Amino acid sequence: MHRQFFLDVDNKRLAIKNCFAKRLATVQKKFTRTNDNRTKNPVVAIQQAVSHTTHLHEPVIVDEHIYKEKIRAETALNSISDAVICTDINGNVDYLNIAAENITGWRREDAFGRASNEIFNIINSNTRLPVINPIDCVLQTQKARGLPPNTLLIKRDGTEVEIEDSISPIHNWEGQYSGVVIVFHDVSATKAMASKMAHLAQHDCLTNLPNRMLLNDRIAQAITLANRHHKQLGVLYLDLDNFKHINDSLGHLVGDKLLQSVAKCLKECVRDSDTVSRQGGDEFVILLAETKNSEDAALTAQKILDALHAVHHIGKTELHVTTSIGVSVYPADGLDAETLLKNADTAMYYAKEKGRNNYQFFIAEMNTRAIERLIIESNLKLALEKQQFILYYQPKVNLSTGLMTGAEALLRWQHDEWGEVVPDIFVPVAEDSGLIVPIGRWVLRQACLQAKLWQDAGLQDIAIAINISAQEFLQKDFVAGVRTILKDTGLDAQFLELEITESVLMRDAECSRTILMQLKKMGIKLAVDDFGTGYSSLSYLQRFPIDVLKIDQSFVQNIESAKDDGIIVSAIISMGNSLKLKVVAEGVETASQLAFLKARHCEEGQGYFFSHPLTAEQFAKMLLTNMPALDLVN
Ligand code: C2E
Ligand code: CA
Ligand code: CA
Repeated sequence: MHRQFFLDVDNKRLAIKNCFAKRLATVQKKFTRTNDNRTKNPVVAIQQAVSHTTHLHEPVIVDEHIYKEKIRAETALNSISDAVICTDINGNVDYLNIAAENITGWRREDAFGRASNEIFNIINSNTRLPVINPIDCVLQTQKARGLPPNTLLIKRDGTEVEIEDSISPIHNWEGQYSGVVIVFHDVSATKAMASKMAHLAQHDCLTNLPNRMLLNDRIAQAITLANRHHKQLGVLYLDLDNFKHINDSLGHLVGDKLLQSVAKCLKECVRDSDTVSRQGGDEFVILLAETKNSEDAALTAQKILDALHAVHHIGKTELHVTTSIGVSVYPADGLDAETLLKNADTAMYYAKEKGRNNYQFFIAEMNTRAIERLIIESNLKLALEKQQFILYYQPKVNLSTGLMTGAEALLRWQHDEWGEVVPDIFVPVAEDSGLIVPIGRWVLRQACLQAKLWQDAGLQDIAIAINISAQEFLQKDFVAGVRTILKDTGLDAQFLELEITESVLMRDAECSRTILMQLKKMGIKLAVDDFGTGYSSLSYLQRFPIDVLKIDQSFVQNIESAKDDGIIVSAIISMGNSLKLKVVAEGVETASQLAFLKARHCEEGQGYFFSHPLTAEQFAKMLLTNMPALDLVN
C-alpha cells in the first residue's frame, strides 16, 4: 500500500517530465528543419514564448509554426503540477510557470530579472542552514543535478514548503549554455503522509504508545547507549490483573478507556527518556533507559503499582485496577531485546502466581522451571492415551471407633522414563493447560468404578473422596458429568465425596453455592479441602451445603510446635463442631498429634500414622481386615 502510493506519484511525475521533454524535442526538431534566420535556440524560444504570453496583447510577429509551438509549450507548462523556473546565464529569473508562481508565492512580473536565489530561496529542513545554491553549481558545471534531500523552499511570504527535484542547464542553439531550468514540486503533503504512515506503523492506535516494533528499536538503541555510558537498562513487563473480567462485565468501550487511562498513568510514572509501549491486549512494556542499578527498576515498579491502584474515572464508572510486573535488567538478564522481553515476561508470570499486584525480578531458575513445565505439559497430553495414570487410596479413620470410614483417591503418573510422578509436580501444569478437565473425569470415573467393585466384592461400604480442581468445578457440564459417571458406574451418590479447596469455592461464592446445591441434591458429600489456608468467610461457609472440613496438614503438623501449640487446630475443630460439620485432620503423622486431636473431639483423621496412600490391591486387603487403623487408635 505504502510503497504503491509513492510509486504512483513518481510515475505521474515521470510522465509529466517526459511530456515536457517531448515538447522541447518537438520544438527543437522543427527548428532544425526550418533553420530560418529568424529562428532562435528552441529552448530560448520557449522561454521567450512563455514569457511573452504574459504580454500577449503586444503584437509579436513570429513564424506560425513557432507561434503554435509556443502556445502549446506554454499550455503544457502551465498545466503541469510541477513548478518550472528558468534563469538566464547570470542566474536571474526569466520564467515561472503557474505552478512555480503558486509554490513560491512570486508572480512572474515581480520575479523576472531577480536573482534566482531570491525567488528560489532554499534551506536544509534539518539544519535550517541555507543550502549551497544548486543553481550556481549547475551554472558552473553545466551539469544537471538533483536538489539535495530535505530541501525547504522559503516562500515569498516566509512560509515554507518541502520540495524535491532537479536543476538542469539550458543550452542554446549553438550548444552554449544560456541558463538553467529548475523543476520542482511541493512534497509537504507526501512527506506528511509518509511520516503519518511511519507513525501508524510504529504506534498502537488505541493508546498512541509505541508498539512492539518501535520498542524493539528503542531497546536496541538503549543497549548501545548503556554500553557507552556503563549503565544498565530495566525492562518492565506488565499485565493488568483480571482485565478480562472488566472487559466482559463492563464492555469493550469501558475496557478501551481503561487501557487509555492506564497508558496515561504509566507515562506519568516514568521519565521522558523512558519508553512506555503497549504490546497488545492488557500488556504493556516499559523500557527504563540508563538505569543505575536494579533498585531503580524496583522503585519504578513499586511506583507503578501504587499509581495504577488509584481510581480510574471512566465516564461515570470508577475503576480500580492492579497489575503484575516482571522485571529484567540489562546486561544481567539478557544481552538483546528479545531475551530481555522474554525473561521479563517469565518474571511477570511469577508475579501473577505470587497473587498478582506485585513485581518480581527475573531469576535464571524461572527459565529452568518454565522449560520443565513445557516438557511436562507435552508429556501429559499423551498420558491418558498411554494409560499412565493410576489411583492410590489413603484411608480415613474415625478417631473414636478406630474404624476406617473412607478413602481419598490420590492420583499418580507412571511415566515410562521418569517413573512415578507425584501430583504436586504435574497437577499445577495440568490445571494451567486445561488438561486437568479430561484427567479429572478419568479420576472420577476410575474411583467410582473402584468403590463399586469393592462393594460388589462384599467388602465394607466406604465413601470415596476425590479432589476437584477449580477448572473442573467451574466447567459448565461438571454436575452433569458427575451424574453420568455415577449412573454409568452404578455407585450410590452417598458414597461419593468431592473435596474442593476453599479458595476455589470463594472465587465466585454465588456460583459455587449453586453448583454445590445441585451436587448436594444428588446426595453427594461435600468437603472443604486444605481448610485454613484460604480466606473463607464464615458467613459463606454457613451458606454452603458442606458436610466436611479437612484441616490442612500444615496446622496438624504444627500441633506440637511451640509457636502454634495447636491453637488453630483447636479453633477449627470447635468451629466445625458448632457448624455441625464433620472435621477431618489431614497429615496425622504421630501418636501425640492423634492424642491431641482425640482430646479435642476431632471426628476423623488421615495421615501416614494410619497409612500411606495404597494401591487398589493393598487397599482391598486393608478393607478385608480393617484392623491396622483400629489397632493404632486404641
Ligand atoms: P491433598 O488433597 O491435600 O492430598 C493430601 C496429600 O497429603 C497427598 O499428597 C497425600 O499423599 C499427602 N499425605 C497424606 N498423609 C500425609 C502425612 O501424614 N504427611 C504428609 N506430609 N503428607 C501426607 P499427594 O498424593 O502427593 O497429593 C498432593 C495434592 O495433589 C493433593 O493434596 C491434591 O491437592 C492434589 N491431587 C491429588 N490427586 C488429585 C486428583 O486426582 N485430582 C486433583 N485435581 N488433584 C489431586
Ligand atoms: Ca484432598
Ligand atoms: Ca488437603
